[in-house]
Amino acid sequence: MKLHSTVDELKGVGPQLAKKLHFLGITTVFDLIDYLPRRYDDYSVVQHIAHINPGPVTLKAVIKQVQGRYVRRGMHITEAVASDDTGSVKLVWFNQPYREKSLKMNHPYFISGEFSFKRTQLVVTNPSTELVSDFPVHTARVIPVYKETKGLTSKQIRASVAQTLSLVRKLPETLPAWIVEQQGLVSAAQAYEAIHFPESSEQLATAKHRFAFEEVFRLTLASLMTKQVNSSLTALPILFSEDLAKTFVSHVPFALTNAQRKAVWAIYQDIQKPEPMNRLLEGDVGSGKTLVAAMAAAMTMHAGYQVCLMAPTELLARQHAQTLYDLLEPLGLADQLSLLVGGMKPAQKKRAKAAAKDEKVKFLIGTHALIQDDVDLKNLALVIVDEQHRFGVEQRKKLMKKSGHAPHVLSMSATPIPRSLSLTLYGELDITILDEKPAERKPILTTAVPPTDRKKIYEHLEAEIKQGRQVFVVCPLISESESLPVTSAEKAYEALAKSPFKNRRVGLLHGKMKPADKDNLMQSFVAHEIDILVSTTVIEVGVDVPNATVMLVENPERFGLAQLHQLRGRVGRSEHQGHCYLMLADSKAPSQRLRALVTSHDGFRLAELDLQLRGPGAIYGTMQHGALDLRVAQLSDHKLIATARQTAKKFLDKGENLLQYKELHQHVTDLQKVTQLN
Ligand code: ADP
Ligand code: MG
Repeated sequence: MKLHSTVDELKGVGPQLAKKLHFLGITTVFDLIDYLPRRYDDYSVVQHIAHINPGPVTLKAVIKQVQGRYVRRGMHITEAVASDDTGSVKLVWFNQPYREKSLKMNHPYFISGEFSFKRTQLVVTNPSTELVSDFPVHTARVIPVYKETKGLTSKQIRASVAQTLSLVRKLPETLPAWIVEQQGLVSAAQAYEAIHFPESSEQLATAKHRFAFEEVFRLTLASLMTKQVNSSLTALPILFSEDLAKTFVSHVPFALTNAQRKAVWAIYQDIQKPEPMNRLLEGDVGSGKTLVAAMAAAMTMHAGYQVCLMAPTELLARQHAQTLYDLLEPLGLADQLSLLVGGMKPAQKKRAKAAAKDEKVKFLIGTHALIQDDVDLKNLALVIVDEQHRFGVEQRKKLMKKSGHAPHVLSMSATPIPRSLSLTLYGELDITILDEKPAERKPILTTAVPPTDRKKIYEHLEAEIKQGRQVFVVCPLISESESLPVTSAEKAYEALAKSPFKNRRVGLLHGKMKPADKDNLMQSFVAHEIDILVSTTVIEVGVDVPNATVMLVENPERFGLAQLHQLRGRVGRSEHQGHCYLMLADSKAPSQRLRALVTSHDGFRLAELDLQLRGPGAIYGTMQHGALDLRVAQLSDHKLIATARQTAKKFLDKGENLLQYKELHQHVTDLQKVTQLN
């Protein structure tokens, strides 16, 4: 057996079990070794029967008698008596009829289970048993408990892992030797052995520390390397003009918030430099990111260079073009702006491209296709990326071929990234947060609704529609799923269009539709040809429909808090009061997460809470950051993060060759896909 052997080479793993292991992402023996326990039950202390107290116990005893019987249909009980030199105790198993045959009389067993009073009797309930040996797997030790799946138990995983021990002991080191030594870490082999076969809680702690360190080290190394690549490129320095900035501000019909002022200032400083800016502008929905983008664009155009703005959908690109036109008009820059999207007439597109080529157009606004197609932007100095877009080193390289320079990049996102996570991922330097709301918008009234109140809520929806308002209904899935008991968009659409709102115009929008169809449908919603739009989270992206006042979310537990917060930001964008209804799946009290959403309107606080409760995947889930997989490390462990970061810096300063460390190289390459997306 080798590390890359498939799991079916293990004893007891047939095709059935192999399939279930695959379901957990385990194909090879190494995958199995790398499948870390989620928790442990300490059954390491063997006790005498006479001395046991209620709670988890481990005995070393012989089975004296065993008998199984059905107490009623579908309920089987096996009862046994275990004895050691100090006394006897009763063992009971429910619905495990095989116990009667498998237990050997008068043989010494390790017996681990919960000892408690059942009615008036003292019994050990559903214990694990194993013939006494030097290497018990399921009893008499700190027992790892793994994440299970249907028909696959921790016991089966333990039995399989136990067969890999000799391979585990020979696992190669994955970190540079000097790091292991300086950080006082245990070796990779020791860490894996201790995590599956811990001998003590101290040993387990050192193993966990090693895993945590390695995770954060990889992540920060990936992030620092991305930075290094960026700073080795040259960009076009954009000359700052105080006059232009002042003129711009004087024409805006409101005062900039302090947060906007700071953001613009930071950007102006960045783009004056010959290294490409790589800045993330984070701000809640409605925090005024577009204005910041417009000021960055204006300065670039004024300096004689070109800008492009990429939006995730054509519709959004059109909205941006309109807003930016209005903002740039007073400066006399509006006629240098053009939209370029697939839905335009061929002649229009041709004209836009020609104008971009001979630089009559300095600001091009469109979808991602802007930089990929036959668009000639020789003098491109700044790229603005709106919402959920990936813009990595590859795309930069592509643009460098066009212009000979790396563009400055300004990414805008409404997804709040908790500080602890952004520090790890990006280092704090290149993030600007718009933490101030410009207009005093009324907070969206958020309510968690029990299923019994559905009718009442529908009446409210009807009342809003009667007054000319519009409604979003968001579902976690497009179509019915056998395995998930949740409302799908298709089902909700059919149900709503049938009875309660049969006289209303209901539309269905989801991610599997063609982009043009999505855009058309969204356009009809904007034009108020639709009253209720049923959709999946595709509408999360920043489309502005000020007339929409109600956001109804089905199965809200399925969404991340940051995501829900963004969803509700789609409504209440006008003088009308916005409402968000979280339609609970059952009558249980709403979870702590949902209660937080009801009471808090602070996107960062909500994201931080989600990070604590559900881990980074919850934040990044919406952004497809699958590679961000911290299994052991806690992002709240500031000391760990600081140390890992210093070590990653040292690794780069030493000029270490990453290719020398195969596993590290593999992981860092995968992670760079995450850290590049700002
Ligand atoms: P975001 O893209 O961050 O969600 P927008 O840029 O669309 O937000 O801005 C939301 C609204 O707030 C727009 O109507 C914009 O004109 C307005 N706005 C932006 N900055 C300010 C400000 N400083 N004071 C008042 N209103 C502002
Ligand atoms: Mg926006």
